[in-house]
Amino acid sequence: MLSRPPVPPRRAVPPPPPARRPAQSSEEEEAPTPRGIAARIANLQLDQIGRSPLQQAETAPPPPPRRNAAPPPPPPRRAPAIERDPELVRLLSRKPPPPPVQARANSAPAVPARRLPPRLPTPEPEPEPEPEYVEEEEQSDEGYQSQAEEPSDSCIKCHDFSFVDAHAASFPRHTVSSVQQLAFDLTAPFDSETEKARALFTWLHHNIAYDAVSFLSGNLKPATADSVLRSGLAVCDGYAGLYLSLAEYAGLQAHKVTGHGKGVGYAALGPNDPVPSESSNHAWNCVLMDGEWRLLDGCWGAGALSGSQYIQRFDPIWFISTAEEFGKRHFPTDTSYQLLPEPISWEEYICEPDGPTIFNDFHTLNFLKDLLQPASPEIASGGWVTFCIFKQCEHMSRAQEDNYVYFINAPDDTKTPLEVNSEGGWSASIYFPRGMRGDVSLNRVTLVNGEDAKGMSTQAWKNAIGRKSMSWGGMARWTMI
Ligand SMILES: [Zn+2]
Repeated sequence: MLSRPPVPPRRAVPPPPPARRPAQSSEEEEAPTPRGIAARIANLQLDQIGRSPLQQAETAPPPPPRRNAAPPPPPPRRAPAIERDPELVRLLSRKPPPPPVQARANSAPAVPARRLPPRLPTPEPEPEPEPEYVEEEEQSDEGYQSQAEEPSDSCIKCHDFSFVDAHAASFPRHTVSSVQQLAFDLTAPFDSETEKARALFTWLHHNIAYDAVSFLSGNLKPATADSVLRSGLAVCDGYAGLYLSLAEYAGLQAHKVTGHGKGVGYAALGPNDPVPSESSNHAWNCVLMDGEWRLLDGCWGAGALSGSQYIQRFDPIWFISTAEEFGKRHFPTDTSYQLLPEPISWEEYICEPDGPTIFNDFHTLNFLKDLLQPASPEIASGGWVTFCIFKQCEHMSRAQEDNYVYFINAPDDTKTPLEVNSEGGWSASIYFPRGMRGDVSLNRVTLVNGEDAKGMSTQAWKNAIGRKSMSWGGMARWTMI
C-alpha cells in the first residue's frame, strides 16, 4: 500500500445521499410529476408488466455511512463543483443524512441531481473502435408519436460520454506511476462527478483484464489496488477495490459493495427448484455522483467471459443502470446498497424467472430489457399477444429516420412490424392460433438491397418483401408453447 499523504481539505460538508422531503410536503414543491416512460408504463395495462424500473429511480435511500478511515487525499483540484453551487451548498449544510428508510415512491430527492455540464470541446478522439455509445439523436418532425422528449442534460442514459471515454483511453496502464496519479490524470479535466466516475469506469475496461485463469482454477489471491494496477489482472473484487481507491483519490465518495451477482454460470431457477440460501460471489461499487448515489460494476463493464476466455468488451450498461435495473442481477449483502425505497428480498431476487433471450442488437440499439414485453421467455398460443419495446430513456429518438423497422417473426414466418405507440415505445399485437409451436423472434431489418435500412418505413418494408433482397438481425426470442 502507498502510505497516504496528509489529508488536504475536503468538501466543507460531506454531501449526504439525496435527502427526501417529508411525505406531507410532497405537493408543495415543484412538480416532479411522473414523466416520460415511467408515467406511461405505469399507465399501461398490459399483461405481465411489472414495476417500472424507472418509476422509483429518483428515490434512492442512502447507503450505509462511510467507513471511519480518514478520507483519502484527493489530488490537487479546483474547488469541487458542489461547493461552487450555492443551492447545493445550502441544501447540503442541513442536518446529516437520514438512515435508509422507506420512501414514498412518488417523493423526490430534495437535492436535485446536478445537470451534467455541456460537453467540452472534443479533440479528435483516439482512433479506437469504441462500441455502442449512444447517438444523440435529433427529434423528429414525424408527429407526436415519434417524438422523443427533450434531451436532458441530467439524464445519465443519454449523456454523451464520448469525450470522457476518449480521455480515459489515453492512459495505458504501463505508463501509470501510481493509483493516485492515475486518479488525478483521469478525472482532472472534469467538473462533474458523474464524468469523473465514468472516466474511472472506462479506464478499467481498457486496462484491467479479467483473471479467468485464477477464477476458473479457484486460486484467488487477495488483491490490492496497487497489485491490480501492477498486474493488470483482477476478478470482481480487484476491479471494485481499484475503483474504490481511484474514486477516493479523485475526491469522490464511494464504497465497495459485496454480494451476489448473476454472472458467469448463473441459470434462473425453475419453478420447482428450492430457493438457495443467500450467498456472495461478486463485488461492485456505489458512488455519489452529483448528488445522487449510483451503482456501477466496473468488472462487468470491462468485458465478459466466453467459456474460459475473457473478451474485452465495453458494456456501459453497468454504468448507466438505475438501481432497480442494477438490482435485477446484483444482490448486495447489505440491502441498503440496493438504493431502492423498498428493498427486495433474496427470494424475490434469486427466484426472478428468466426473460426472453436477448441478442446484442437489442442492447446496441439502446433498448431496455426490463421493459421488453412479453417479459417471460415463453408465450402461450391461442390468443392475442402484445409485444412492446422501449429505448433506455425517453429522450432517445423514436423517429423513423433514426430507427430500423422492428418486426415480429412468428413460427409460421408471418412478419408483423411494430409501430410507434403513444407510450413512447413500439408495439404490435398479434394473434397466435391455438397449437402453434416454435420460436417467435423480434428482429430489425438491417439491409435492403445491400444498403443500411435505417430510416425505412414499415410501409416501404412491406412493399419490398419479396421484391428486394433483405436481411435482418435478431434482437430477442421467445418460445411459443
Ligand atoms: Zn435520457
